[in-house]
Amino acid sequence: MESNTSILNTYGRLPISFEKGSGVWLFDKQGNRYLDALAGVAVNTVGHTHPVLIEGLKNQLDCFIHVSNYVNIKEQENLSSKLTALTGLDAVFFSNSGCEANEAAIKFARLYAHSHGIQSPEIIVMEQSFHGRTMATLSATGNRKVQAGFEPLLKGFIRVPFDDLDSVKKIAEQNKNVVAIFVEPIQGEGGVRLPENLNLYLNELKNICEQNNWLLMLDEVQTGIGRTGKLYAYQYSDIKPDVLTSAKGLGSGVPIGATLVNNKITNIIKPGQHGSTFGGNPLACSAGCLTLDIIQSENLLLNATIQGAKIAHELRTNLKNLIAVQDVRHLGLMIGIELNQNCTELMTTGLKHGLLISVTSGNVIRIVPPLVINDNESDFLVAKLTLLIKEFIGSK
Ligand SMILES: *Cc1c(COP(=O)(O)O)cnc(C)c1O
Repeated sequence: MESNTSILNTYGRLPISFEKGSGVWLFDKQGNRYLDALAGVAVNTVGHTHPVLIEGLKNQLDCFIHVSNYVNIKEQENLSSKLTALTGLDAVFFSNSGCEANEAAIKFARLYAHSHGIQSPEIIVMEQSFHGRTMATLSATGNRKVQAGFEPLLKGFIRVPFDDLDSVKKIAEQNKNVVAIFVEPIQGEGGVRLPENLNLYLNELKNICEQNNWLLMLDEVQTGIGRTGKLYAYQYSDIKPDVLTSAKGLGSGVPIGATLVNNKITNIIKPGQHGSTFGGNPLACSAGCLTLDIIQSENLLLNATIQGAKIAHELRTNLKNLIAVQDVRHLGLMIGIELNQNCTELMTTGLKHGLLISVTSGNVIRIVPPLVINDNESDFLVAKLTLLIKEFIGSK
């Protein structure tokens, strides 16, 4: 397939395009079907063309798409009420993407610092993290490939290894300019990396934050909206973050980002200090409300837990004697299969097996299907994936 040279060449694309989708399936022009284990990069929460989502969005289109934040927006109020009720946080700022949700979090942390007399605030971020590709979020990101060529980076970030409490404690003793910790509960782009003990890690980070008057800011852009079997991954722990960012799966494909905050931020923010033209528009917020409603009415958190455990268990069984398979790790339907070698080509060869998958950080197969995946579909996924990996290893 020829690449279209009128589109700026920022993506390495697979040699395929699709005509339509239904549930976890995508169809090409020839009518071949592919199980969508990429889900638009953990975006298509309720699968393709979900009837309730489509009907709800059509109803919204009949009213209006966009009105502006000069006026009250009922759909925005509905979604912020749902999100605050489901998290116990106090208020939501809406934007259009993950990086924008994170950009807002970074701005809020700086504002919080200045309101406490810290003139040069610093935020602790992690190695191998991914927070987006705007200047602030790529500066926060722990991946040189994302940053290279775009220097000078934004100042004000201190990097520590992921899942390493001692480094954070050391900084707490030495550095009086720190104002926040910004961390993904599970690193997505960094290779589906889980802390050894998620509850313990988050509890301890929260403790350190409370002792030092720092904000705990969680980037749940990828882990949120039921992906891990809870609405947000932090809900596996006993803590609440001060700031929580959400995007990807929130609109089931309609672009939306959300920065949830507690009263540490609501107490200091004033009109005019942040904004977005499209942020929280009626169409996007309807998509968010519909997504949350469908998650609830179809019990998708439970389904993500059950299907995720089943897929991971069966993959471990099928792949257990293969030295090249170093690890199968997961929480809910966020699944990573780490190989001992680069396996980016599996995205292309997967298509031949009727699978759309992604490979992140070079050697980790990432499986993030829609949360609606059923037993037959997860059987298909496991069977094809097993075959794909065995063929790949055998050919080396
Ligand atoms: C995808 C992602 C982002 C960036 O989201 P965009 O919508 O692409 O800007 C930020 N953080 C995490 C953890 C992500 O997975």
